[in-house]
Amino acid sequence: MKLDQKEVNFIIEEVLKKLTDTKVVSSGSKQTGTGIYDNMDNAIDAAYNAQKELVKLGMMKRKEIIEQIRRVMRTHVRLLSEAAVAETGMGRVDHKINKNLLAIDKTPGVEDLSSTAYTGDRGLALVEMAPYGLIGSITPSTNSSETIINNSISMISAGNSVVFGPHPAAKGVSQKTVELLNGAIQSAGGPVDLVTTVSDPSIEASQTLMKHQKVRLLVVTGGPGVVELAMKSGKKVIAAGPGNPPVVVDETADIPGAARDIVLGAGLDNNIVCIAEKEIFALKKIADHLKSELCRHGACELSSRDLDKLMEHIMTGKDSHGHGVANRNLVGRNASVIASIIGLRVPEETKILIAEVPPSHPLVMMEQLMPVIPFSRFDSFDDAIAWSLRAEHGFYHTSSIHSKNVENLSIMASVVNTTIFVKNAPTYAGIGMGGEGHTTFTIASPTGEGLTSARTFTRQRRCTLVDYFRII
Ligand code: NAD
Repeated sequence: MKLDQKEVNFIIEEVLKKLTDTKVVSSGSKQTGTGIYDNMDNAIDAAYNAQKELVKLGMMKRKEIIEQIRRVMRTHVRLLSEAAVAETGMGRVDHKINKNLLAIDKTPGVEDLSSTAYTGDRGLALVEMAPYGLIGSITPSTNSSETIINNSISMISAGNSVVFGPHPAAKGVSQKTVELLNGAIQSAGGPVDLVTTVSDPSIEASQTLMKHQKVRLLVVTGGPGVVELAMKSGKKVIAAGPGNPPVVVDETADIPGAARDIVLGAGLDNNIVCIAEKEIFALKKIADHLKSELCRHGACELSSRDLDKLMEHIMTGKDSHGHGVANRNLVGRNASVIASIIGLRVPEETKILIAEVPPSHPLVMMEQLMPVIPFSRFDSFDDAIAWSLRAEHGFYHTSSIHSKNVENLSIMASVVNTTIFVKNAPTYAGIGMGGEGHTTFTIASPTGEGLTSARTFTRQRRCTLVDYFRII
């Protein structure tokens, strides 16, 4: 068979491309094409090179890559959800399945990007959303695979590559997620190592990522410590920090409906989600009714003596702001497991434990990330709002209300001033779970980007042509 010059050139190009790919992945990758590297420098170099390949492929290919990511990840949600619970001991498999599916299906893709054209007497100016290049993303133990899937879809849609610094406690599930994403990307004809991480995630590895000169943008999803540190990195940072969402229930609310929604919301993945209701503030008039409805929908009430005993296990100390620090061994555990620590037996299917406390109680003020939810009653709506503001600590994260009073709905929205505000639904409706709008697992409240999506991970570029290309 005789090949013409065009065919020969094509074969040479393909071989060269394969050789380049092999060179990249062989410099420290444990296994070719998995995206998992022995050290952070190699993970960064590989993803840096992959991003250059991605932009050459064009928008249609990027769309195909995102579609393939969704297809492949959908078939692995159970595996990832079971792996996360087994490895971290946190949360519930069925809830994680829903969270992973949410990330896969409701994270916007390439369609989130848009261009702007200005035309006038002096011609045309175009504004386009361009990639940053390489993004360093530090991810939490609480929503490990969900955050990696969500960030990958958003960041790749915007034309970036990403190196992940996962929480060491979620190392296995995070690496599996990265490996599956790489498989999906390559099977759609995308570059090798668009998404990478390290074989041994650690605080030190994440700090290398924060400082590396090839990282153009740092995205941090985690608690107050890591957010504070990232802000000092000297890089542009998109930070998704902690929350402590209050839920207010006033006397006009549909009490059975509010109780059902609060148990569902606060019980989501055993309360480890940053947006989940963390303290219940009820108006005096309906407080007893609300409590009995909460119990009817799967809550179990603790006596104040039992809560006192439990607090010794729940809170391990105080942070620099004087707020309680949650015991990591109890974060995300089932309500029945937490109750058993003080010898209390509650039905296994109990979704949350509730305990009535004054609003200044440490459990109100701390981000407990476990299904033990304080309940406080108030004489007036104004008091409930004032305490909501205090309990939220100026995180500007999430809050919610159950009410039919339009004035109260508006006052709380405005005064508590959170990035996500939900009315008459579980707070997870605010991230698109049973509510309108896209989802994200990186809610950037400290830096103000809000519910992140592909467009968040772009930089704006303008191109101007003077005096031409106007068509009228
Ligand atoms: P964490 O702060 O312990 O860890 C988060 C990430 O930061 C991990 O990858 C960890 O390895 C890294 N890290 C921690 N300290 C570091 C340091 N000194 N240097 C470098 N890296 C460091 O948080 P977590 O327990 O995994 O997750 C729960 C927290 O994250 C909660 O506070 C929750 O509210 C928050 N969170 C926020 C969002 C959001 O969208 N705003 C989403 C999920 C979780």
